Amino acid sequence: MSTPYGSFEAVIGLEVHAQLLTRTKAFCACETSFGDPANTHTCPVCLGLPGALPVLGEEAVRMAVSAALALGCTINPRSVFARKNYFYPDLPKGYQISQYEEPLATHGHLEIETEAGKKRARLLRVHMEEDAGKNVHDARSSESLVDLNRAGVPLMEIVSEPDLRSSEEAAEYLKRLREVLMFVGVNDGNLEQGSFRCDANVSVRHRGEHALGTRTELKNINSFRFVAEAIDIEARRQIALIERGDRVRMQTRGYNADRRETYLLRDKEGEAGYRYFPEPDLPPLVLDRAFVEDLRVALPPTPAQRRRRLVDELGLTPQAAAVLTGHPQISSFYDATVLLYAEPVKAANFIQSEVLRDVRVSGLSADIPVSPNQVAELLRLVDKGTISGKQAKDVYARMRATRARPEEIVRERGMSVISDEGALEAMANKLVAENPKQAESYRAGKANILGFFVGQMMKLTGGSADPAIVNKVLRRVLSPGGDPGVEKVAPTPQNTGTLRPGAVAALRDEERGSGARRSPVPSDPSAPGSGRRDRDDQSPMAHSVPPPPPLGPLEHTTLTSASAAVLAPASDHGPEETFARLDLRVGRVISAERVPRRDGLLELGVDVGDEAGPRRILASLALSFAPEQLVGQRVVVSCAVTPRDIGKGLTSEGTILVAASGEGLALVTVTGGVPPGTRVR
Ligand SMILES: [Zn+2]
Repeated sequence: MSTPYGSFEAVIGLEVHAQLLTRTKAFCACETSFGDPANTHTCPVCLGLPGALPVLGEEAVRMAVSAALALGCTINPRSVFARKNYFYPDLPKGYQISQYEEPLATHGHLEIETEAGKKRARLLRVHMEEDAGKNVHDARSSESLVDLNRAGVPLMEIVSEPDLRSSEEAAEYLKRLREVLMFVGVNDGNLEQGSFRCDANVSVRHRGEHALGTRTELKNINSFRFVAEAIDIEARRQIALIERGDRVRMQTRGYNADRRETYLLRDKEGEAGYRYFPEPDLPPLVLDRAFVEDLRVALPPTPAQRRRRLVDELGLTPQAAAVLTGHPQISSFYDATVLLYAEPVKAANFIQSEVLRDVRVSGLSADIPVSPNQVAELLRLVDKGTISGKQAKDVYARMRATRARPEEIVRERGMSVISDEGALEAMANKLVAENPKQAESYRAGKANILGFFVGQMMKLTGGSADPAIVNKVLRRVLSPGGDPGVEKVAPTPQNTGTLRPGAVAALRDEERGSGARRSPVPSDPSAPGSGRRDRDDQSPMAHSVPPPPPLGPLEHTTLTSASAAVLAPASDHGPEETFARLDLRVGRVISAERVPRRDGLLELGVDVGDEAGPRRILASLALSFAPEQLVGQRVVVSCAVTPRDIGKGLTSEGTILVAASGEGLALVTVTGGVPPGTRVR
């Protein structure tokens, strides 16, 4: 393996301070909101006034434990807060409340992958502490001010073992750590605003040596790129010192990105300098097993688990899986779309090529201009042949940032086109009749004249016809021995503009079998045979695709592998096995509301045909939907799940598996992974 450091190697350990997204500070009830006027969120506790007593907030503990569990850590049943004593103007108490000898959690790990290969980076510990305030340096008055709004905000510090050997590994570690915290929902991953801060401990040694060299600590570097740069530059600085016969001194250093050099901040204090001692004002933090296990059960799948599922079960490429799990909101948007539309690869392609172009993310929130419902419906319109893939992009452009249903847009704009070869054939017949010379040349053996006809057809259809179908139809019409005359074509339903019942479905099956992309037929309303038979409610679709039969509350259906994975995110059981053990029922959502103070959680009332009345289900799965979109929809519910306390006095009486739009949709359709015929029990 090539090394950036010649006969030396770098030994890197990272300490990350991640702000926990609690509503209040760690040890008082002050709000954690930022950007407000200085010192407006303070109280005797966080101002460090004498006699004020800290009280640990439960929300911070829940978040820290959840994150530590997601990182594979062992949660210590008992941990102890300690005072870390030092003076700084933004630390009025003269000490920071942290954890030292007995931290919250130990021994986790992160899987990282670089060009050097896959690697498991071990975590030494995860502990809780509080943030300090902020010094504000006013350039005009040469005065420095202190803002204590941030003092007492809860942090978790995640300390790695010195397992990393290159800046590339360090950057990869930070990315993976950041995404885990974001997917657990405890940190917004914002490096610029300082809610995810990294210090790097760097030392060097000759390759093959085992003893650790003297390390320096690089402080507060606010981008992944700068962390990587700073590590390389610092490692080379240390190597140069050693090669000159000097020794590396234990120091805390900063990084100047403009000059591309690290610089001395201070000679590093030994830990003894902090005079740690147990915080006398706080009792040890004792966590009972049930508290921890509840949080473990409630953990969402990690980004790595999500990527594995997308590749292994849904058939996506690793690149697509990485893009679609790039942010928690994008990931849940994709998951929700796949629950509504059972062709994961097509959904992935469309979301990547169209939807993600418009998405703006900021911290944990993402501005996605459409709903999963809209995307699913749009893709179904393409599948049915109602519109072409190209038209789908136009419909998408009109649908963005509105609640409009794709079907309405298609209807209003008269975009809907007929879906069988009949119309194309009629068009081809007319074209051939109008161009007898060219037709004659083709029949005389000039095969390349076909291109002329294909071009004309594409022009007539505004480019919305599928070239493969156009080719096929033209060959048939032009083929020697065949009669191209329009007058001899019998007025079948296909070419008079009325669809044969079932034509769409038949076409669909045929295309599915061949794997061909479907996007037939003309969009130009003046084109022969296309007409505009779809501007009223009596659209051809309404005629040609029979609405699905009404589903009874316990009617059987089949499930997709996508819904299986949502059902058992962290389970070792395969989807089939999971299904076999569950009581799955179709239900109807009769109410949906946001749960106060639990972002992203909806409370659904679902009628599953029980005499006892509707189930009360707390669903984060539904977070991509506005509550009003869910009411009235059919869903698949796992009723056998034991009513589960999910904290704050909230109990869920089931798990919602599949949310499908009502009108005109099958509840669930079949796809790979789960064999057709798997029953809802
Ligand atoms: Zn306070």
